Amino acid sequence: MICNEKMYALGAKRSVIRELFEYGKQRKAAVGEENVFDFSLGNPSVPPPKEVKEALLRLLDGENETALHGYTSAQGDKGVRETIAKNYEKAFGFAFDPDLMYMTCGAAASLTITLNAIVSSEKDEIVTFAPFFPEYRVFTEKAGAKLVAVPPAEGLDVNEEAFRLSLTENTRAVIINSPNNPSGVVYKEEKIRKVAEILKETSEKFGRPIYLISDEPYRALVFEGKPLCLPSFYRDTIVCYSYSKALSLPGERIGYIAVSPLAFEAKDLYLAICGAGRALGYVCAPSLFQYLVRECDTMTSDIEIYRANRDKLFGRLTEMGFSCAYPSGAFYLFMKAPSGDANEFSEEAKKFDILVVPSDSFGCEGYVRIAYCVSPDMIERSMPAFEKLAEKYFGKRK
Ligand code: PLP
Repeated sequence: MICNEKMYALGAKRSVIRELFEYGKQRKAAVGEENVFDFSLGNPSVPPPKEVKEALLRLLDGENETALHGYTSAQGDKGVRETIAKNYEKAFGFAFDPDLMYMTCGAAASLTITLNAIVSSEKDEIVTFAPFFPEYRVFTEKAGAKLVAVPPAEGLDVNEEAFRLSLTENTRAVIINSPNNPSGVVYKEEKIRKVAEILKETSEKFGRPIYLISDEPYRALVFEGKPLCLPSFYRDTIVCYSYSKALSLPGERIGYIAVSPLAFEAKDLYLAICGAGRALGYVCAPSLFQYLVRECDTMTSDIEIYRANRDKLFGRLTEMGFSCAYPSGAFYLFMKAPSGDANEFSEEAKKFDILVVPSDSFGCEGYVRIAYCVSPDMIERSMPAFEKLAEKYFGKRK
């Protein structure tokens, strides 16, 4: 083969999620859209706030069309970064420096840029907490490092002891994602404090900082309590944010990286981020959407719809006998496969036209992910199918 074999393998092998989604399309054509219960994709089902459309129209109606569609600075428009930093400070009381922020094409770009900026040797290790977003492995390996997964504690929480043991002198960064995809779990403040403590101790022990990469596409989707400001817990934090879920704009590819001004060698790290952005071709994030987020940064799509979906699904599925960790955020439920075999359970669910993603690619065996960013109506219609599935495993309910 003349091309890059690793890239070929990535391109040729569709992700399990995409496979299921394609299968769903075929089933819908065969048995009718309303009879397939597709919980495979994390595509927001709630429209963007109405202010998004209003702001877009205002921007498009503005005077300087060439500037609107033109290149911004490589790291993003300064005014946009200043506004985001100001809003963050108002919300969390923590001041980012706009000169340490980089506008990107969503969280995927934020992560891959950050990892490429940090990794410098093939011995480098990036630690993350299972279950995790499968692309962490792809991004980490492409950056030239090894991904190390920490198995979860009860309730899919952070396992402190396993975390401590996973850190070595080769650990360069830890990726944390709360609210979590695929579990919907939101790590509690005490846990984040503990993670920070362990990182601080280990960084001191090895005499070099371990960066904390906080992947936050679901920060605005917290149903109980408030989202946390990770840089206020741990100095060496880099926030990777995205508007894909918060404003229901996944197709527009907009987000940012914010290096904490308190981080070790923050300016050098930021320059490495600018370099990685340049090397990867991620410069000048889409300008129309940079200006849009300047206007709409503080808004969120109507998360009450997700909350109602969560309440209904979690309530009914646990009543039927299934078990899931309590999902306080995002729009996912991570349900235990009653047989312990995720693939078998996902295949069994398919027989009732329920499409749920087996958990192996999330680094955690024996679960399926249910993405409940779907219409409330579909959830209601799926209930008899879930009842039949439950009957298979737990028998008929009295
Ligand atoms: N990180 C997590 C945990 C995600 O779930 C996703 C997308 O689903 C991403 C990153 C990538 O987000 P984006 O669409 O903003 O690139």
